Amino acid sequence: MIKLERSPKPKFLTSEKVKELIEEFKKSGSSVWNADPIKKQLLTSSYGKCSYCECDLTEESKYMEVEHFEDKKHNPDKVVEWENLLPSCKKCNGSKSTHNVISDPILNPYLQDPREHLAIRLFRMRGLTQIGRDSIDVVGLNNQERLVLKRFEIGSQAADSIEVAWERYRTFKSNERTQSKNRLISLLEGILLECQPSAIYAATTATVVLTDSNFLALIDTMKIDGLWSEDLEDLHTIAQSLALRCA
Ligand SMILES: [Zn+2]
Repeated sequence: MIKLERSPKPKFLTSEKVKELIEEFKKSGSSVWNADPIKKQLLTSSYGKCSYCECDLTEESKYMEVEHFEDKKHNPDKVVEWENLLPSCKKCNGSKSTHNVISDPILNPYLQDPREHLAIRLFRMRGLTQIGRDSIDVVGLNNQERLVLKRFEIGSQAADSIEVAWERYRTFKSNERTQSKNRLISLLEGILLECQPSAIYAATTATVVLTDSNFLALIDTMKIDGLWSEDLEDLHTIAQSLALRCA
């Protein structure tokens, strides 16, 4: 989970339209929130990902669900309230279900920074606060098959890429060729791009990459050799803003 910024409300959601849709929902129970402008705007704000687990919702956008933070069953007047809507995958939405976020709060990534509430240890999320712990249980952030295993795969791939980066560094040191240098830098860029807000599972990837001692040593070495560019530094800074604590 990463901190998200809410996009502007879709233009068609005027107060008149909102009233009309609420009435329609109350009368027929139909999914009045399933409008393309709502889905599109939500997906834009979450970089096409589930706002809870960061899985990709664009690959098969039919699986994107409009999640009601305050659940629709108990809060029919908020079914199309823009601030109450989040883009979610079927699994997170289903796991949260009709949970009451008022009596039993969980994280809303549009309002709180998950870094203050969540940490990672052995590819499992850990709550640093009560709201963090409750979010893990309510949304299912430690679902073994779907998320913990995925985090392990990400960690393993990142470790491999960092090994390859070291090999490329040594190749460059042995031949000092521009091609070798560019191959090293493009791999570093690739690793850091996976740690940016737009990348799937960015919080996990940023955490595993930025806490890998092999990676940190490579950065230091490249800085000494003048190989660490401003572009890499910028990507690194953004990655740092997403990485969770290892606790
Ligand atoms: Zn999800």
